[in-house]
Amino acid sequence: MSETGAGSTEPVLDVEDIHVYYGAIHALKGVSLRVGASEIVTLIGANGAGKSTTLRAINGLNHPRQGAIRFEGRDITTATPHSIVQGGIAQSPEGRRLFPRMSVTENLEMGAFQRTDREHFKEDMDRVFELFPRLHERRHQKAGTMSGGEQQMCAIGRALMAKPKLLLLDEPSMGLAPIFVEKIFEIVREINAGGTPVLLVEQNALMALDTAHRAYVMETGRIALQGPAAELKTNERVQKAYLGLE
Ligand code: ATP
Repeated sequence: MSETGAGSTEPVLDVEDIHVYYGAIHALKGVSLRVGASEIVTLIGANGAGKSTTLRAINGLNHPRQGAIRFEGRDITTATPHSIVQGGIAQSPEGRRLFPRMSVTENLEMGAFQRTDREHFKEDMDRVFELFPRLHERRHQKAGTMSGGEQQMCAIGRALMAKPKLLLLDEPSMGLAPIFVEKIFEIVREINAGGTPVLLVEQNALMALDTAHRAYVMETGRIALQGPAAELKTNERVQKAYLGLE
C-alpha cells in the first residue's frame, strides 16, 4: 500500500513521531501521520485519545516537544498559528466559533482577511454559496440565529474562504441532525474533489470511514491502527470499538 493517496508522491502534511504535553501530561506519545495531495484522511478514536491535540499541534497551538511537522516540505513544528494559517492550513473548529452577531456574508469575509489575493474573493464566495445554497439563502441572517447545521456549514465555508491548501475539520458532524450529517460529509467529498486535501477528525467513525480514503485510529495518545478506510471499516477491532458492531 502506498502511504499517500492516489497519484501523489510527496505528502502535503507529514507529522513525524510527535510528542505533545499538557504540563506533566504526556498527551501524544509519538504520533505519525500523513496527508497526500489528493486525499481525505480521517483520524478517529475515543474521547481523550488525542485527536484534538494532534490538530492543535498542526495548527501551532501546542508545539511538540519532540518530533517534526512538515507542510509542503517546510518544517512548521514550531511555527506560530498565524504563519501556519498564512501558509495555507485552515481549520473549521469544533464548537464552530462564528461571530454570532455578524451576518453569514460577514463571517465568510472574515475567513479571507489574511489573504493577499483579494481579486479572487468574489468567485470564492460564489463557490462557497454553490457548495452551500442554504448559506446563500441566509446570507443576510446573523450567524448566531441559525441552526447548528447551518452554523457548521458557515464555519466550513469560512475556512474555505482562506483558500486553504489543507483543510482541517474537527468534529464537523458534532451535534447535528442526521440529515445535516449526511450533507456535511457530502460537501467534504466535494471540497476534496475540487482539489483540497482534508484531515478530518471525527467521533462518527462510520461516516468518517465512508468518506475518507485513509484512516488512522488513535488510542491513548498513539496511532493504534492505520490503513485504507474501506479496510479499517471491516477490521474486527474497529467494528467492535468504534462502529458498535459485534
Ligand atoms: P475529544 O474527542 O474528547 O476532544 P480527543 O481525542 O480530541 O478527545 P484530546 O482532547 O486531544 O482528545 O485529549 C488528549 C488527552 O490530553 C486527554 O487525556 C485529555 O485529558 C488531555 N488534555 C486535553 N486538553 C488538555 C488540557 N488543556 N490540559 C490538560 N490535559 C488536556
